[in-house]
Parts: sequence; C-alpha cells; structure tokens
Amino acid sequence: NLSGKLDKAFKTLKGQGSITEINVATTVKEIRRALIDADVNYKVAKEVTDKIKEEALGRDVLISVSPGQLLVKIVNEELTQMMGGKKVDMTLQGDPAVVLISGLQGSGKTTFSGKLARMLKSQGRQVLLTACDIYRPAAIDQLKVLGEQIGVEVYAEPENKNAVEIANNAIKHAKSTGKKIVIVDTAGRLAVDEQMMQEIEGLKKALNPSETLFVVDSMTGQDAVNTAKTFNERLDFDGVVLTKLDGDTRGGAALSIRTVVDKPIKFISTGEKMEAIDVFHPDRMANRILGMGDVVSLVEKAQQTFDEEEAKKLNKKIRQNKFDFDDFLSQLEQIKKMGNLKDLMGMIPGMGKALKGLDIDDDSFKPIEAIIRSMTKDERANPEIINGSRRKRIADGSGTSIQEVNNLMKQFADMRKMMKMMNKVGGKRAMQSLAQ
Ligand code: GDP
Ligand code: MG
Repeated sequence: NLSGKLDKAFKTLKGQGSITEINVATTVKEIRRALIDADVNYKVAKEVTDKIKEEALGRDVLISVSPGQLLVKIVNEELTQMMGGKKVDMTLQGDPAVVLISGLQGSGKTTFSGKLARMLKSQGRQVLLTACDIYRPAAIDQLKVLGEQIGVEVYAEPENKNAVEIANNAIKHAKSTGKKIVIVDTAGRLAVDEQMMQEIEGLKKALNPSETLFVVDSMTGQDAVNTAKTFNERLDFDGVVLTKLDGDTRGGAALSIRTVVDKPIKFISTGEKMEAIDVFHPDRMANRILGMGDVVSLVEKAQQTFDEEEAKKLNKKIRQNKFDFDDFLSQLEQIKKMGNLKDLMGMIPGMGKALKGLDIDDDSFKPIEAIIRSMTKDERANPEIINGSRRKRIADGSGTSIQEVNNLMKQFADMRKMMKMMNKVGGKRAMQSLAQ
C-alpha cells in the first residue's frame, strides 16, 4: 500500500543524512529496556525515550559522526539534561551554616554526615557534627566514632530527648567555638512515619537550615522514588544524596527521583569508607545508567554506519530531484557493505518487490547491478532518455530480459516520484496525511 511504501521511502531518505526512524525505533526500545533494567521508573523511561526519539529524528548527521554515534550522544545529553544538566552546589549561608540531614533509617545518613564533614574539613572549613538521633544511643556512638576518625568534633547530649533543643545548643556551641558549619544528623524510621515527619519538620522550622538534604538508598528502587516524594512534600528539601551506589545498582533511581521530585541530586555515596563520597555530576550518572559500553555497542549494532560524505552528497541530490542510477548503484554498494541484507531490504523503496522470491544475499543484487552497469553514463544520469531500443540494448548487455529492465525502470521512476513528493511537502507527517 502507498502508506507503507512512503514509509519505506522515508526511511531510505532519512537513512542517508540523519538517523533513520527504523533504527531509532529499535534502538529506542532497547534503550528503554536498559533504563528499566537500571531501575528507572517505567513512566520516566518512556518520557526519556520519547524525547530521545524526537530529538534524534530532528537532527542531521554531521560529517564526522555516524548516526549511531550521534544517537549515543543524544541519549547521553537527554539523560544528563533530565538530571539537571549541571552539578548543583550546596548553599552554605549563615553563621554557622546549618545542614540538616533527613531520610529513612539505614539510608546512610550518619555515614554521609561523617563523609560530608570530612569533605568540608578538607576544604578548610570548620565543621561541627551534631547527633540528633534521640532514639538510638548507638547512633550517637556511631557518629562519635566517625568524628574521631576524621578529626571533627561531635556534639551530643545523650540524656536529652528533644532534638530541637540539642540542635540549638549545638549551634550555640558552634558559635562559641568558631565552627562555621553545623551538620545535623537526625533519626529515621524504617518506613515513612508521621512522628518522624513531624520531628524533621520541626527541626527544619526551628533551625532554618541553609541546606536540607534528603538521603536515600539507591538500591531501594521504586521505593526510593516514593520516599523522596513524601519527604519532599513535607520538607521541601534542597537536595538529594544517593547512597550505596557501590552496589549492583546502576543508578536509575537518580533519574527517577530527579524527574519525579524535581530537586537536584547533590552528592553520591559509594561505600562505607569516609572517602567514598562524590559530588553528583549528571553527565557521569548518565554514562553510568546507560552502562556506556553497553549502549555504544547496542546502538552500533542497531544503527548502521553510513559513509557520511556519500550521504551528504546523496541528500543534496534528492533535495534537488537529481537522484540517478549512479546514486542507486552506490546505494546498493552501501547496503552490501552493511551486511544483513534481509533486514536492510525494506530500506530502498521498490527493492523488496524487485527481489521478491529471491534468496536474499549479495547475488540478489547482481541483475540490478548488471542492468545499471550496462547503461551509458548519459543514461544513468538522465534515465528519461532510456527508450525502447536502449532498453533492449541494456537487457542484452546485462544478460537480463527486457521485462527485468522495464521492472527496474518502473521501480526507479516510482522511487523518484516519492522523493519528489517528499521534497515538496517536506516532512513525514505531511506525507502520511497524504497517504491516508
Ligand atoms: P542511617 O540509619 O541513615 O544513619 O544509616 P547509616 O549511616 O547508619 O548506614 C546504614 C548502613 O549502610 C551502614 O552499615 C553503613 O555502613 C552502610 N552504608 C552507608 N552508606 C553506604 C554506601 O554508600 N555504600 C555502602 N555499601 N554502604 C553504605
Ligand atoms: Mg543514623
């Protein structure tokens, strides 16, 4: 049917100068699967891949890049963009600046508090750690051990059961001892819980921290997103800390959380040691999520590399309605180079029909190649001049029948007609509406 033919034609055209829809469709499906495997929430994965597709189809391929390379770049850029584009620093204001640490129990708050203190200390800042987990005496000891390890003072009041009071006292202590940053480690629960929420909300109100961070275990997958959402609704935090990225997880939570709560991820934690902390870089996380090596090969497999110089010339010819038999021949050459002919058959309009019933291998192109090679230079460039007697000569010269030559002429004419139409309406959507 016409619509199907036009579709194929479109693919051929697009295939030369930009990323083909057929290749994008398969590749995008693969990418979506990879994202879901990397714990990205389904909706988010779909949103990303839709954007990637849109972006990919709109771009021309540069001389120096193959469509595959370009697609990888687009995927990477899109993911990076969706995670905020650039890194976002903490805001440290006030004397002292207060950093409030929130999150569920076991997410890694206390460990992160220590890491952050160490990092800030190494930047020459005076830091005070504050133990506000009033429910577990062991939590105070845990922070004290870390503080000792990194050489940062830990403020604690083991007998006091009022977190706000402890934190306020810590701030006073910081002022009197010249500490410029107070990190407040708090109590979490195993699941979202009203008492915990009220307590952390109360701390935020009372302390007016310049930075409230939400710490979340990246291995908890979909739960991480829901927890982030709830904390954000109650706390309106300033940034996210993703922990336990040293495990199997590929970091899909970063993309989901960023997309769902629209707050920057500021740090990642990659181990139990105090050194295992990094500032969050969206581009690096994009690489990680995609497992760059995997995606490159995946995209390379799905996409075929075209000869870009050739492609550019061809595109120009198509735009000027000058596509001729020489171009057709060089297309055949390209397709042969790319291998896997069966998959590629659909990419030249009319070719499917021309080769119907044949076993698809390199030999399948031989009659067509022979016919074109039997044409004179003039005939290849100006197919209009190929009249009846020329057809007979060409058939004889190529060892084919006039019928075969006629078939090819007809396919070629159809192909040109399509190209011309496409040039006129300029775009696939317009073509599709024409076809319906
Ligand atoms: P809290 O309850 O939120 O304070 O969590 P903790 O800081 O006590 O951490 C809970 C557990 O996770 C501890 O055993 C930590 O050593 C461990 N942990 C914290 N961060 C990381 C990390 O980035 N990677 C790994 N592998 N373990 C971590
Ligand atoms: Mg803790």
